[in-house]
Amino acid sequence: MSARAFLAGLGFSLLAGSAVVAADPLATLTSQAVTDRWAYDFLADLTSEFGPRPAASPAALRAAQWAQQRLQRAGFDDVHLETFPVTAWTRGPESAEIVAPLHQSLAVAALGQSVATPAAGIDAEISLFKSFQGLRDAAPGSLSGKIAVVTQRMTRTQDGSGYGAIVGMRVTGASEAARKGAIAYLIRSVGTDNHRLPHTGVMVYAKDAPKIPAAALSNPDADQLERLAANGGVKLHLALASESHEKAQAVTVVGELRGRETADQVVLLSGHLDSWDLGTGAIDDGAGVAIAAGAGHLIGLLPQRPRRTIRVVLFGAEEIGGASKPYADGQGSKIGSIVIAGESDFGAGRIYQACLPGDSAGSAFGKKLAAAIEPLGVDLSKTPARHGGADIEDLVERGVPFVQFSQNGLDYFDIHHTADDTFDKIDPAELAQNVAVWASFAWLAAEDGMDFRAAALQAPAK
Ligand code: ZN
Ligand code: ZN
Repeated sequence: MSARAFLAGLGFSLLAGSAVVAADPLATLTSQAVTDRWAYDFLADLTSEFGPRPAASPAALRAAQWAQQRLQRAGFDDVHLETFPVTAWTRGPESAEIVAPLHQSLAVAALGQSVATPAAGIDAEISLFKSFQGLRDAAPGSLSGKIAVVTQRMTRTQDGSGYGAIVGMRVTGASEAARKGAIAYLIRSVGTDNHRLPHTGVMVYAKDAPKIPAAALSNPDADQLERLAANGGVKLHLALASESHEKAQAVTVVGELRGRETADQVVLLSGHLDSWDLGTGAIDDGAGVAIAAGAGHLIGLLPQRPRRTIRVVLFGAEEIGGASKPYADGQGSKIGSIVIAGESDFGAGRIYQACLPGDSAGSAFGKKLAAAIEPLGVDLSKTPARHGGADIEDLVERGVPFVQFSQNGLDYFDIHHTADDTFDKIDPAELAQNVAVWASFAWLAAEDGMDFRAAALQAPAK
């Protein structure tokens, strides 16, 4: 072994001349993240070459094959595709208009998994509720033959909690309305903007209610209906031509940087490759897959691998649900080898806070992480992580510890799930900060040997 190779193996690098300088991998990762364009280029190419990527669509499959090649070229090991069945959904032509007391077309988008209207559309009077609770409180049969409309507003918050507070209106509202006799269901978009771009998103039919068509109105259009409804007699025409496709095949992409010592212990980073069909899925969640893969790419450039394996998973069906369980099921007894998991799925806004499992923040690992991310503007919270991400939910349910990075999401729900979710919305400096934080965390978690499972069982230090 040459002296150069020997020193590189110890984590030293030889600079020009004869000086031998200890290379701090964390400092290397954070400084390279600022100048490295791999994640930004990954996101540019993903959104430009494949556009919208609904789960199980031909574009999603091609994007998965492309991502597989990108990870292989970046030096990841065992890069492969994992296929699983989903009920896919495609949007058809769609329109809505006010036909009384005036004529005005409305900006509308069917909710994911909604059934179609009859081909001629639906013409009916509306029954409008300013809150989801108002719909829930409506008497059975009181909406017979009506289009139910709910116009509750989403609150803008930095951490995105305004979304969780209201999203039930989108997911379960159609069945709630159908139980009262409604023949279609419309919502004010779950979004914080005032543009005429509706926000789509998944909905789920309850087994005990008729399946009625469901769509989101742009926020100004919902406001217009709210004003008109004060005087009653508002009639709409609604036509949706969406279709569901059972037993379609979605694809998740997996690649690893095999650990140099304890390769059977895995630090899992993830995002989701699928997107809604209206935009090109740049903030949701092209950014997340670029961040997870970009963090792995940077760690792969270091002179030596960390002790544990780093696995990058680009999930294939977050938006319509269904990627999390097949992946967790597929781990079988190996699920215990995942020492910690995390998902980036909140755009590319700057990370301002990190939360770890249980009392990890007070450990030696926590202190090292705090020191690494503090210069990046990230505070390590003593509060344990509470939400890991939709695609790792089934891992978490089976005891896998998880990390949570809070990003500035003040503007995220202005464009989330709209036609405006496009690449130009990505700030390269903010994306790079995300890559730096995830890379620092992943490298430390893979090098340090921290037992997150034991820590997760402990209450946080006060
Ligand atoms: Zn997402
Ligand atoms: Zn989404």
